[in-house]
Amino acid sequence: MKLDAKVLRYMSSEEFRVLTAVEMGSKNHEIVPTPLIAQIAGLRHGGSHKILGELAKKNLISSVKNAEYDGYRLTYGGYDYLSLKTFVKRGSIYSVGNQIGVGKEADIYIVADENENQLVLKIHRLGRISFRAIKSKRDYLQKRKSASWMYMSRLASIKEFSFMKILHENGFPVPKPIDNSRHCLVMEFIDAYPLRQITEIKDPGKLYSELMNLIVKLAQCGLIHGDFNEFNILVKENGDPILIDFPQMVSISHPNAEWYFNRDVECIRTFFRKKYNYESMLYPKFKLDVNREFNLDVQVAASGFTKQYQKDLETYQNEIGKSLDNSDDNDDSDDRDVDQESNESEESENEYGSDSTENTSMMNSMNRLEITSSEEIN
Ligand code: ADP
Ligand code: MG
Repeated sequence: MKLDAKVLRYMSSEEFRVLTAVEMGSKNHEIVPTPLIAQIAGLRHGGSHKILGELAKKNLISSVKNAEYDGYRLTYGGYDYLSLKTFVKRGSIYSVGNQIGVGKEADIYIVADENENQLVLKIHRLGRISFRAIKSKRDYLQKRKSASWMYMSRLASIKEFSFMKILHENGFPVPKPIDNSRHCLVMEFIDAYPLRQITEIKDPGKLYSELMNLIVKLAQCGLIHGDFNEFNILVKENGDPILIDFPQMVSISHPNAEWYFNRDVECIRTFFRKKYNYESMLYPKFKLDVNREFNLDVQVAASGFTKQYQKDLETYQNEIGKSLDNSDDNDDSDDRDVDQESNESEESENEYGSDSTENTSMMNSMNRLEITSSEEIN
């Protein structure tokens, strides 16, 4: 789905109150009953009705009629809205520019702050692929009703932000994290190309050893990136690599740590062999090279990403991983269905309507959409 920053401009404070009420109600209800929304928003039933209709028209919430009761749920659009509004209020961002990336589970935009510094907004969209795929194994979801796209996307974002913060504070080459709200995070814009796009490098051996050293240095701090590949390494003009994309990081005390570690190492070896025809006998080995010096994952837990969050997110990631392995067509848009009850729902089919990356060049000028009106931002 496309981020619609324009809608931010046109919202009354009452609409905002009702939207916030839907979000609050979602903590305990997958479908928030209409009377509860009115109650949380402190509006008469009749009064909230009209506003709910307006919000649904703007695609910020969607009406769901199920067997037991009628209600609403927040859409990705509504969740995006709430995050953006928080960022604007805190002064983290001021305008939204081009989309520069669309992955299976995240959308990336160029944004800017008030001083026109370019930043990157990453919106996590877990569940875009399919929650149906994991429905059959949803025991853990039964216990935790809120294990929805909203909860999972928020976890991925909190996790990424927490790790980025700790890594940045400890001198690792990662973007500087700026702000986090719900399923979105804002970070420094890195003016660089993904390694994947770099066809020639002067000294592949140098970059190769820098990357392997980075894997080892992470492990010595108790961490494994878990997706250390040519897409998640940006290479600056001067040749320095910057590591991105952290939702799948694991601790070296994880039972499968060695497997994750070897996979990261293997990714780099394979890529350098195929792309640059570079092969080295030297590569890190988990048992030999990983002597834990200190433990950053403890710091990460202290920063707000708790063990329970880690467990919930990992369960989801494992299930999704398995279902992708078993699927011929991972990106089937018919599967873009995040709501377990959606068979009974009347929501618009197009909530996750086809994404198009309008502009893949991050060097292009900003197409500025102002998110303003400070009196509306309360
Ligand atoms: P995904 O989870 O979709 O893989 P990533 O965090 O890897 O998301 O980002 C996808 C792409 O967006 C990257 O390959 C890169 O081109 C771009 N990107 C992400 N973060 C930044 C950043 N901080 N600065 C510049 N480009 C970025
Ligand atoms: Mg990535």
